Amino acid sequence: MQTIGLLGGMSWESTVSYYQLINQGIKRELGGLHSAKIILNSVDFQAIEVCQARNNWQGAADILCKAALNVQAGGADFLLICTNTMHKVAGAIEAEIDIPLLHIADATAQSLVSQGVSRVALLGTQFTMEQDFYKGRLSDCYGLDVVIPTTADRAIIHDVIYNELCRGNVLEKSKQEYLRIINQMAVQDVDAVILGCTEIGLLIKQADTSIPLFDTTEIHAQAAVAYALTS
Ligand code: GLU
Repeated sequence: MQTIGLLGGMSWESTVSYYQLINQGIKRELGGLHSAKIILNSVDFQAIEVCQARNNWQGAADILCKAALNVQAGGADFLLICTNTMHKVAGAIEAEIDIPLLHIADATAQSLVSQGVSRVALLGTQFTMEQDFYKGRLSDCYGLDVVIPTTADRAIIHDVIYNELCRGNVLEKSKQEYLRIINQMAVQDVDAVILGCTEIGLLIKQADTSIPLFDTTEIHAQAAVAYALTS
């Protein structure tokens, strides 16, 4: 079994999900008392969020490159960045490290394509929904037709992530807002919805809607389990 490197803390609420899902996956595959071999570097999200808000992506990249090198030095065989948004600096991190990076958008796209999805809605932070580093990868590399919510709904989704979910507050009224937005996307002929923020799975579950949901935290964690056991 390979050692999984995690760049976490963005937010720690979703890093908990990664830790649990990866260990559950290893237990499911290997049984007995098996658990995942993990090197986790959990950064201070406040510092990252300040960089995001100031459009200082180089500053965020510097913090994460240093953290990634520590994960590598700790013995990780490959790396996961446990947030969709900070894949904006995935290229800078990849350039610093010698171990492979399991990109969250690649894992998600592969899962969508394997299930025959071609037109998909994307929910996430405004950075993820609006910028090309994520959407562009899905469409350019995998031919997916990606639809995003209206400007007003993007603001609602973004604010719930930073003001509630990343602070551990899971509120029923926000769940209803997300479901309203998901239903609006469903009438635009999408085959599925990407939960493209690692905290959204704390709020919305598949049981809440009939439209297929692709939870990036679950998909990324399962990809890590598969990679750790087969590479
Ligand atoms: N975890 C979130 C994501 O998947 C948002 C927090 C962040 O900005 O990294 O995008």
